[in-house]
This record gives sequence, C-alpha cells and structure tokens, in this order.
Amino acid sequence: MTLLDSVSVDPRAGRPIPDAATRETIGYAPVHSSAYLDEAIAAARRAQPTWDAIGHVERSRILNDIADDIRANADELAVILSREQGKPLDGPNARFEVAAAELWTRNAADTRLEPEIVFESEDGRAEVHYGALGVVAAIGPWNWPMMITVWQIAPSLRMGNTVIVKPSEYTPLSVLALLAIYNRHLPSGVLTSVVGDREIGAALAAHSGLDKIMFTGSTDTGRRIIEGSAHNLARLTLELGGNDAGIVLPGADLSQLIEGIFWGSFLNSGQTCANLKRLYVHESLYDEAVAELATLATEVAMGNGLQPGNLLGPLQNQRQFDTVSALVEDARARGARVVAGGTPAPELGPLFYRATIVADVDDDARLVTEEQFGPVLPVLRYSNIDDAIIRANNTEQGLGASVWGPDIDEAKTVAQRLDAGTVWINQHGTLNPLVPFGGLKASGYGQEFGVQGLKAVGAPKVISH
Ligand code: NAD
Repeated sequence: MTLLDSVSVDPRAGRPIPDAATRETIGYAPVHSSAYLDEAIAAARRAQPTWDAIGHVERSRILNDIADDIRANADELAVILSREQGKPLDGPNARFEVAAAELWTRNAADTRLEPEIVFESEDGRAEVHYGALGVVAAIGPWNWPMMITVWQIAPSLRMGNTVIVKPSEYTPLSVLALLAIYNRHLPSGVLTSVVGDREIGAALAAHSGLDKIMFTGSTDTGRRIIEGSAHNLARLTLELGGNDAGIVLPGADLSQLIEGIFWGSFLNSGQTCANLKRLYVHESLYDEAVAELATLATEVAMGNGLQPGNLLGPLQNQRQFDTVSALVEDARARGARVVAGGTPAPELGPLFYRATIVADVDDDARLVTEEQFGPVLPVLRYSNIDDAIIRANNTEQGLGASVWGPDIDEAKTVAQRLDAGTVWINQHGTLNPLVPFGGLKASGYGQEFGVQGLKAVGAPKVISH
C-alpha cells in the first residue's frame, strides 16, 4: 500500500483533497469530531509521563531513526507534497522540503540543552533546568506543511512532551504521511493528529488539556489563538504573517544579486512567510532592477510540479488565488506599471498565476500594505536611505527583512534599523536549524530552532541551594 493510500480514508467518511495543479481528487482526509479531540488529548496525557521518563538519549535515538526513515521515503513524500501543495519536485521545492523535514528532525535529536548556572557565589547557587511541559498542540499552515510540522513537533517530542497535530485543512494528507513515518517509531499516544477545519483548530487551542500551542499561520488566526488560550493558559509560540521588505543600496552589483532577490521573493510561488514581499531599490539602480526582475519572471519555468524542470507551481487554493488577483488589480487601478505577468495562466491549470513584477506602485496600494502570499513582487523607488527605512518599517508585520549592497558594514547599519526578527544581507529567507527564527510586532512571538527552540517547548525550573 502506498503512503498516500495508507493515510487517505474511505470517501464516505472523508473530505476530498484536490491536486493543487489539476484539481483532481488525490485522496480523502478524515473529519474529526470534538469527541475525537477529547480522546486524543486524554491519550496524549496518559502517554506523556512514560515518554518523558525514557529520557533524552533514547528520544534522540528515536528521532534520528525517524530522520533516516524520512530519507528512505523521501521520493514518495515529495510526490504527495507536490501534488497536494502544488510546489514542484525540482528546485527549492518539494524534494527540498522533505530534506528539510529530515534535517530539522535530526537537529532536534542532536541539539543539547544543558542546565544553566545563572547565579553562583560563596552563599549559594541557582540553576535553570528544562523539563517537559506536557501536551503540545501543533497547528500549522498549508505553505510548507511538512517542514513546519517538523519545526513544531520534533523539538516538542525531544523535550519529552506528547503532541497533537492539527494540519491545515488544505494540506492534511502531506502532514498525515509525515506523521505516519514518525509513528512507525513512537509509542502509541505520543504523536496524534486531529484533522478538520478551523473549528476543530479553535477547539484544540482552547482545550483544557493543553500546556503549549505551537502555532504557525496568519496574524488574524494568531489573535484568535491568544483568545482561545485564555481558557487554558497554554504557553504560545506564534509564527505569524510577514510582509518582508528588501532594500537595495546604491552600488549593489545586480548582476550578482538579482537571482537571489528573485528567489527570495518567488520561492514556493511567493507562498512563504519570510519571502521578500516589497523591494525598495535606490533610484540609481531602479530601472535596471525592474528590467532584470521582469526578465527572470518571464523566463522562469512554471507548471505542474511533477513535470521535471518546473520551478514554480500554482497558488495552493482558490482563496489565495483570489487574493493575489485582487491585489494586482488594485495596483493596476492605481496606475502601477505591470512589467511582467499580471494575469492568470489558465492554460497551465485553474490556479496558476504568472510570475509578476509591478513597478511604480503607491506605498498605500494593498499590494504593498498587505501580505500578497503569491508570485507578485512590487518594486518601489527611493532616493534617501532614511526614507527607505521608514517605509520598510511602516507595517504591523516584523518577520524578516533584507539589505542588498556591496559594503557589509553599511548593510549591517541599515539592518540594525529594520524592525524584523531576522535581517538577511545579500540573501533573503535562508534558514538554518541552529539559528533562532521568529518574528517581531504582529509577526508573532517566541523563537524556533536550535537551543532556543528546545527552550520554547521546555518547562524551566529553577533549583537553588
Ligand atoms: P491560517 O491562519 O488561515 O491557518 C493556519 C492554521 O490555523 C490552519 O490549520 C487552520 O485550520 C487553523 N485555524 C484557523 N482558525 C483557527 C482558530 N480560530 N483557532 C485555531 N486554529 C485555527 O493560515 P494559512 O492561510 O494556513 O497560512 C498562511 C499564513 O501563515 C500566512 O500569513 C503566512 O505568512 C503565515 N506563515 C507564517 C510562518 C512563520 O514562520 N512566521 C510560516 C508559514 C506561514
């Protein structure tokens, strides 16, 4: 039996899930009830003390075995992901995401979190030890469903917590296939899932049996999760939306940098939290940058993800397709210049939208003020760096930002003035499992990855003597 068949349920009991490119049904996702949720949480609570008691060495071994198993099943996982999510197999897409799922699993296995001595004198000593919190909910989005689920669950499991996963209603089968691999190695009740729409997500977030919520998704939903957690006082890590700005400084060598700028923006057809979503270019380079980006956008291979060579896929769902179309139309109506794309590509499939570059767009156009989450980049002109920084910071979001230029010290000075959890220099969106990642402002709070990521799902306990 294939992995996809093993996680798909009887059509009479499930919800059809389409192939993102063709819209043909690829399988059926379960629709779980609130009674099922209660039982899943009760089972997770029962399983937690034993899982905690087996200790870090054994949990690390199990996580490394899981990472090996992800690698052994990488081809099959990548095909499920490509069909359901839409991202192509090739390029920094489905195969890359499965490899990242393996890498972050291994990293959670191998990272050490030692007790910290925070005070020591002749009179005494205080240490901070990190234990398990209990039961963690992992609520995720549809854009990088396997990778983000691993970000949430692998550190949680490593710290001795049990986990309930609520996948996005748009990409449940990818996540269930990943969890099937995890569960080949885990005791019963340690890692379960509750599948359904936003209502079951809300019921999970407010459930009295929870100790922590790892949430990745939109800022609006993040606000609802905070309200829900008022009931259970669950600790929160919130990785929310982004509207990352990039600033190209005078003297930047576009011939070297333009591909990095393009992929910083168009990775996963723009459907990435920390993609470059607004580009501010110094007037001395503006026309050159717009022309080169337009060339790349026109030439990039877009199409069905299973066909070799394609690097961009469709929008994942109709709602996102409608949002992207509306933001481009709004910019056009305000007199912006669409220099590449700007229209759907129905010959490729119902939800394809051409890679689009929009120049001479107003700062208050929705394409600039809202998260487009699609293959569309607005390029804005500036003449004064102070003005560019003010405009880049003029958003409620604060996830990432980037500075592009020849002088690293000058770029770092600009980076210090940008309101973002990560500022990249001459790159955008690069992630490393050892480097903490998280947002500022309405992009959320808490950090994932590495030691910080283990602390986020650990219970700090001070021991003083
Ligand atoms: P979304 O907020 O619509 O949904 C995310 C998840 O929350 C889904 O599983 C959904 O069912 C669930 N949900 C919805 N309402 C809920 C509620 N009231 N209580 C509990 N759960 C609820 O987000 P999306 O459209 O799936 O994802 C796109 C968004 O995610 C973008 O804004 C993107 O920037 C953001 N994102 C952020 C990061 C990050 O690391 N900061 C990473 C990826 C995506």
